[in-house]
This record gives sequence, C-alpha cells and structure tokens, in this order.
Amino acid sequence: MNRQPLIRIGRHVQKDSVEELAIFGGLPLFSEPLHVGAPNVGDRRKILRRIVDILDRNWLTNDGPYVTEFERRIKRITGARHCIATSNGTLGLELAARGLGLKGEVIAPAFTFVATAHALKWQGIQPVFCDIDPKTFTVDPERIEQLITPRTTGILAVHLWGRACDTEALARVASKHGLRLLYDASHAFGCTHLGHPVGQFGDAEVFSFHATKFVNTFEGGAITTNNDELATRLRLMKNFGFTGTDQVDYLGINGKMSEPAAAMGLTSLESMSEFIRHNRRNYEAYQRAIEPIRGIRLVPFPENERNNYQYINLQVDESESGVSRDNLLRILHAENVLARRYFFPGIHNMEPYRSEFGPRPPLLPVTSKAARQSICLPTGKRTSTIQIEQIGALLEFITANALEITRLLQADYHHERPTTRLTELASKRGGAS
Ligand SMILES: *Cc1c(COP(=O)(O)O)cnc(C)c1O
Repeated sequence: MNRQPLIRIGRHVQKDSVEELAIFGGLPLFSEPLHVGAPNVGDRRKILRRIVDILDRNWLTNDGPYVTEFERRIKRITGARHCIATSNGTLGLELAARGLGLKGEVIAPAFTFVATAHALKWQGIQPVFCDIDPKTFTVDPERIEQLITPRTTGILAVHLWGRACDTEALARVASKHGLRLLYDASHAFGCTHLGHPVGQFGDAEVFSFHATKFVNTFEGGAITTNNDELATRLRLMKNFGFTGTDQVDYLGINGKMSEPAAAMGLTSLESMSEFIRHNRRNYEAYQRAIEPIRGIRLVPFPENERNNYQYINLQVDESESGVSRDNLLRILHAENVLARRYFFPGIHNMEPYRSEFGPRPPLLPVTSKAARQSICLPTGKRTSTIQIEQIGALLEFITANALEITRLLQADYHHERPTTRLTELASKRGGAS
C-alpha cells in the first residue's frame, strides 16, 4: 500500500495511519463540531441596543421603524425600486407567486432547497422540474421550452449557492412565451450578475434571511421588485389584505417581519463587508487546500462579480478520488467536520413529488449527477483559515489512502454512526438550510 507518510492536523491530532481516522476509532480532528451555515452575527452590543429601543418604543411589529429602515437598506443595496420584508423566505416566495398570479404549472429546478418547490405546491401550483447547467448548477434555459405546456404560467429560477442564473436567456424564454419570471435569491444576497446586484432581475426576487444565510434576521425574508403595482399588492397581501382600518380588499396572510428581526437584519447589514472579507479569505484558503487533491473540485465563484462566498461546494468524482462522496461525508462527520450533501437527493426524489411521478420520474441527468457528487463544507465567521488548512490536509490524506479506507469501511459497520450524530446536532441547533 502506497501510504501518505504522516499527517499532522490540529494541535494535538496527528494521524500516521488510516486507523487513526476518527471513523475507525481515532481522536477526531476537531474537538467541537464545525457546522455548515453557522450563523454570521454582527456587533452584539448594537443588536442589544436596538432590542432595548424596541422595548422602549413598545412598537414590536407592524411596519415599525426598524422594518422600514431595513427595507430601505435592502433597496439601496439591490438597487430595486421596492422591498417588502417578510416573516421568512418561503412565505416571500408564496406571496410573490400569488401576487404574480402564478397558477397551473411553474418550471423550477429540482437541485435546490425543498422550499423552492414547496412554496409553489402550497399555493396549489405544480412545479415542473427542469434540469440544470453542469457549470453553474442553475436552471438550464435551453431545457425550459420543451417543458412549457398550455398550463405553464411562469419560471421560478434559483441563484444557487450565490451564483446568478443566466438571467438574459431566462428573460428571453419568459418573454417569448408570456411567462412570469420569479427568482429564488435565498443564497444570493450581496451578489452581482454582470455587475448588477441580484434583486433587480425578473418580475421579482425573493431573499431569505434565515439564521443560516449570509445575512440573517433570525427568521426572515424579503421580496424585491421594480413593479409598482405588484409591490402595492404584495404589501397589502402580507398584512391580511388590509387597505385601511376595518377594510380588507384582498385575500391576505400574515407575512410580516417583526421589529427584533429587522434589528438583527440591520446589524447584520452593517457587518456585511466583514462577513464577505472573512468568507472570501476562507474561500481562498479552500482553493489552495483543494487544488492539489485528485478527484475533488471546488466550484469556483465568478471572479468578475461581487460574491458573498457563503457556500463552499465541492464536487467529488469517485472514479478519480477513489472515495465516494458518501464515504467522504461519513469520514468528515467522524472528524467533527459536519459537511452537508447540498442538495440531496433532489426535490423530484422527495415527497410529495416522488409519489406523484410514480413509475415515470423526470429524467434530470445533470441534477442527479450533482446530487451524487456535491458536498458543502463549513465556512463563515466561526471557521478559520487554519481549520480549513486542516480540513484540506485531511481530504488529501483520505484521497491518498482511498483504497485502504474504502476497504476498511466495507469491512465494518460503525461508519453509520456519524450521520446519526449530525441529525442529533442539527435538530438541536435548528439549522437545516
Ligand atoms: C433557505 C432557502 C429557502 C427558504 O427560506 P426560509 O427563510 O428558510 O423560509 C428557499 N429557497 C432556498 C434556495 C433556500 O436556501
């Protein structure tokens, strides 16, 4: 066996042989778990001061001054004419879908967080899953036309992992067929496309400010649009359809953002450039660490755009790395690197969609491959470049000893344990997306 001689990772952990990997009983590389999507939190004192303000004012929700200011800042950052803050991103998607009059069928990718499709389905709209582009992992505009039927009313595209969709091609298809174009921009706050901030594209864009996202309001979201009439409608719809005291003109819902959420959001926005600096440094550390590793590729961010670098995505090609993505995941989990399979197994393989397809599921070869190869690694303020160098050394060690590791994994079963541990930890933290 041609074994990588010695690996020294961390202050105390040193691995001289594969048996010293935590999955085989060795000491984990990290004593504390490293999470994907660990919250980025801004200046605590400012958050607390704003919370005190809210209590002093006794104005807790319903278009309070912090929500109004938060919406104003989002408009400034995105350049969109309107911003409607919402209680979360999923409800933002539902409001936007409803406000745009989407019904029947809407074309959307399956390689995304399940809320993209659920938001449609919850509104009685059928998502029709379209395959993605292998380079950008966003919906492939060339495959949309063949999915259009007389029932199609729109496209819901996702700027996955902060990389913008091909907005020009999508706009062309939408306009040619008279379809509405909505973007799930949950991952892409603070990012640009062709130099324009995300938030200005299509008929409307929806952000999520969930705790795990780049900028967070604990729970929260926002819809941005340049359409005045749509903005007015959305503003009424998210407040039960009230147009005046005791007067309701629309079917509405409660989709309001609260003042404490906006206080958190405003404070997050003030730290945005610091979050980006940190994430970018981490991304560059990952680039250096992953570059020499055979069969593992870091999905790059476009150099000529502004990115939030919030998602570190690897593609694992087992035929070259010698270790499968899922085995890699188990090994990482045992070492307390709680990497995630974003996005697995693809929404078309989740309920209720899977059962609806019955024996004829849609053929989404690029989506399937991405769901099989993708792995998302920890970053954010809680992850340091030293830890990333250690993760890189670990990955290098794993691929250099892939044959032996795979053989040992096949020989015993205690490699099931780390997945259980992740589930345990994730449910404690309430972090999912
Ligand atoms: C997080 C996320 C959502 C849902 O946003 P919430 O604020 O959690 O409701 C929707 N789509 C994508 C792609 C997401 O990552």
